[in-house]
Amino acid sequence: MAPSANTAPRKPVAQVRYELLTLGDELLLGLTANTHLTFIGQQLGRRGVTLERNVTTTDDAATIARQFRESWARADVVITTGGLGPTCDDRTREVVAEVLGQKLVFDPAIEQAITDRFASFGRKMTPNNLKQAYKFDRGEVIPNAHGTAPGLWVEQDGKVLAMLPGPPNEMQPMLVNQVLPRLAQLGLLLDREAYVQFRTAGVGESALEAKLQPIFDRQGDALSIAFCAHQGMVDCRLSSPSGRLSLAELDAVAHECGRLLGEDLTCYGHDTLAKIVSELLRAQEKRLALVETATGGLLANAFTELGGACKFFAGGVVCCSNDAHMQLLDVPECLLQQHGAVSDECAVAMATGAAETLGADYALAVTGFGGETMGPGGNPIGTIFVALHAPHGVWSKKLSYPGPRPTVKVRAVNAALDWLRRELLRVAHGAVTPTRRTGVIQ
Ligand code: ATP
Repeated sequence: MAPSANTAPRKPVAQVRYELLTLGDELLLGLTANTHLTFIGQQLGRRGVTLERNVTTTDDAATIARQFRESWARADVVITTGGLGPTCDDRTREVVAEVLGQKLVFDPAIEQAITDRFASFGRKMTPNNLKQAYKFDRGEVIPNAHGTAPGLWVEQDGKVLAMLPGPPNEMQPMLVNQVLPRLAQLGLLLDREAYVQFRTAGVGESALEAKLQPIFDRQGDALSIAFCAHQGMVDCRLSSPSGRLSLAELDAVAHECGRLLGEDLTCYGHDTLAKIVSELLRAQEKRLALVETATGGLLANAFTELGGACKFFAGGVVCCSNDAHMQLLDVPECLLQQHGAVSDECAVAMATGAAETLGADYALAVTGFGGETMGPGGNPIGTIFVALHAPHGVWSKKLSYPGPRPTVKVRAVNAALDWLRRELLRVAHGAVTPTRRTGVIQ
């Protein structure tokens, strides 16, 4: 798509008003989490724009029309998601056309793309799919590389409308590869990152701020700092809204912070702990095994989200019953009877069993009480034991995370990943002794 002269850059990017309309009954019924808000909000934020509003509506035509009219009146850029598909509840295209006073015109090129897509799966297109072949007469089509419903682009009344399909696997690449570059060409968002971010683990938000304050103070009010804490990790974003600090200068401030933080710094940018750990494992040509009870596969999931996991991830076991501990991991029955499955001793045996069974160099074991009742042995809910098996030793740690089960699980996963990350860093820096050690870390 070529940039259009219709929408010239009018004001600084930070003042461009963006609204997001997420459409779909399933979002309001709580059947689907509105991940489009987090994804689109994050992508725009990285380019210097804060969404001014996100409105979620039902699939009802009158409601969509009312909400779209309001957003179109207020905003410079409106993004809609959902309701572009072939079924009777997909009404966004028709409703928006009416509000904008546009005609819908049949586009044979879209019809061909839909027909080809069906043919590539060996399926025959049903007639209702042709509904997706209509575009605005004064608008453009945003091709959909991952589905049948194309996106739609309109520049009208000095504003921009981007209509995107609902499925995340279709919406996300369309936004990143087609919509954001075009908005940047129009001067409606930055064509680069708006801030420098670094991520930390194992240090609280307020302690982090206190530690870094002397560095921040030297920049005076040229520097803007934002913290975002999430389950044992804190991100810090540095920007200079006045433009007095260049990206290179912000980068230098971030690196000064990083040097002060040492191992508490996980990365510059946006990488996850699992990604960082995977890169360290790959660089050291080591393999990892996992065994989980309380986190139910969440730890393994963090690695299988990454491409090429088979290069470093030997596998994982989710085991709950004592029998499974014994059969799958060779945890001795007497150990389970003496200490229980939720104990330092069992966590160590699980990690060692996983490493040996799956032929891995490193293993993490997570066991604990994430539920609603007091665990045996007086251990309160939120008590987690993590064990780390490494070529040079095996250790366990007792952690305590009060909170509902999903929070306890994520905290436990992050703690386990961070522990392994730190150990791999020490190995990389030659800071571990080759003598094999075991122990409980208090
Ligand atoms: P389709 O061709 O699949 O009908 P569509 O553009 O009409 O696409 P919807 O029918 O509204 O989109 O939604 C399709 C899928 O995308 C559904 O599974 C829906 O739950 C999911 N989806 C829609 N909106 C969101 C959102 N805001 N966050 C996460 N998922 C979403």
